[in-house]
Amino acid sequence: MTIELIKGDITTIKADAIVNAANSSLLGGGGVDGAIHRKGGKAILAACVAIRNKQGQCKTGNAVITTAGNLPAKYVIHTVGPVWTGESEQNSALLADCYRNSLILAIENDVKIIAFPNISTGIYHFPKDKAADIAINTVNNFAQKERIEKVIFVCFDEENYDLYLQRLGR
Ligand code: ADP
Repeated sequence: MTIELIKGDITTIKADAIVNAANSSLLGGGGVDGAIHRKGGKAILAACVAIRNKQGQCKTGNAVITTAGNLPAKYVIHTVGPVWTGESEQNSALLADCYRNSLILAIENDVKIIAFPNISTGIYHFPKDKAADIAINTVNNFAQKERIEKVIFVCFDEENYDLYLQRLGR
């Protein structure tokens, strides 16, 4: 598995799957979630509604997969990050679950190239430095990492990009 770092908008990435920092309703929201639904079109929401009708809300740390609609990617993997409620092992474990469960779903769907945003570091206020450590460590320690060709970390804001750059180098 190779790891790539990109600064930009995840909706423009032509990966097999891009990951969405969704909320448990799966019905869309602000931030990256809003951008994905806006640019991907109605097919993504329709697929999310169908999943909701079948299995209810998506729990924090879990992930579901849908079409990517009009986006250049093939799939969107929607995962629900934890809302930062202060330092706790549970918050860190749930954020790690997001990355791990997204990778598991990727493998199940034959995804070779997957792009992640910086889950929970926007509206959910997870500290960006801690979130970067968790994201990178979880991907690096993923048990089936040889089954994924490439993980792309897509940082939208300068602060996240700099934190990832410090940890990954160029
Ligand atoms: P959360 O609710 O999980 O915090 P947000 O969407 O508010 O989700 O923020 C998660 C991260 O996504 C933030 O670091 C934000 O800068 C980033 N982000 C916002 N829009 C985009 C986008 N179009 N592409 C990639 N990342 C984005």
